[in-house]
Amino acid sequence: MIERLLKEEVKRVPPYVPGRSIEEIAREYSLPAEKIVKLASNENPLGPPPGAVEAICRASERVNLYPEPLGRALLQALSGYVGLPEECILIGNGSDDLLEQCAKAFLSRGDGVLITPPTFSYYRILASMYGGRCIEVPLVEGEEEYSFSEALLDAAGEAKLLFLCSPNNPTGNLLRRSLLEELLEGEVVVVLDEAYVEFAEESFAPLVRHHDNLIVTRTFSKAFGLAGVRIGYSLASEELTGYLLRLRQPFSVNSLAQAAALAALEDEEYLRRSVELVRTGRRYLSRELKKLGMRVFSSHANFLLFRSSMASLPEELLKRGVIVRGCASFGLDERYVRVSVGTQEQNRRFVEALEEVFR
Ligand code: PMP
Repeated sequence: MIERLLKEEVKRVPPYVPGRSIEEIAREYSLPAEKIVKLASNENPLGPPPGAVEAICRASERVNLYPEPLGRALLQALSGYVGLPEECILIGNGSDDLLEQCAKAFLSRGDGVLITPPTFSYYRILASMYGGRCIEVPLVEGEEEYSFSEALLDAAGEAKLLFLCSPNNPTGNLLRRSLLEELLEGEVVVVLDEAYVEFAEESFAPLVRHHDNLIVTRTFSKAFGLAGVRIGYSLASEELTGYLLRLRQPFSVNSLAQAAALAALEDEEYLRRSVELVRTGRRYLSRELKKLGMRVFSSHANFLLFRSSMASLPEELLKRGVIVRGCASFGLDERYVRVSVGTQEQNRRFVEALEEVFR
């Protein structure tokens, strides 16, 4: 009976496939959990910022009270960090939450939603949840890196909402400013996901000042090391931010997450170390992967996409206690693998396991 009562949209929502956990792999392959290296979910390998852990402990003494709905103190700090007024910023329960508010705000059944595969799978999930009709304009695979297609300009005419990701997950490439600016001239809402922007050289957030059809989403899950507490934010015009706020649950960001994010923003040294670790690790991994004959795509994020000759590579690495992300779930073939940049020790373990596989 339930099948008949469910909304049609709900029946079509594809499942989200997360990276596999250390516990799961330890059980499946009978390996000790401490021997497993997880480079599958683009997490921060430094652990959380120490100040954020202290802030969570302090804030925990007041969890009998509701959190501050807007997160005023955090908005003020974020305003300084991004260089936009507080009125243009909205915090959410992870950037996933804010991506959802965008779909909720703009999509009615049948509206065109432009996505650029291979990319973050949640955009497609959101489109189908809210009745959108996905229009795909695939990225162009170059010898050294992927790029966004000029075909987006024509396709945007048919769409209400466009999800872009820069640097893109899983390919690591950046959007071209000129393409974004041209897209923003059209009558389409551009949601630009900058989850990995701290590892890149360029952010498009300042364009929010001049384009009320641009929403940029950001997160504390990557460079700030707080994936487990779930906090992200959006940047958009004051008017649009007001609408997104009305759609969001009133207390969607808990007080521990707010306190942790504020402390993380204050810890500039941690951020600097995160970014440095990724840049050094990216260079090391790229070099070692090329030595082993892999085709490596250049990346501006905390992961690398590469192509090997072996379709079963993720499985072979799992047997050796290294978890990476096979990219079949992104619509690429099985030989494409995404590896997150870890600590130097984790990166070395990954390379050693690879050498063993290809020996
Ligand atoms: N956008 C992209 C491109 C991502 O890769 C991720 C995390 N996998 C997210 C958003 C979600 O981040 P958050 O933890 O802030 O919800």
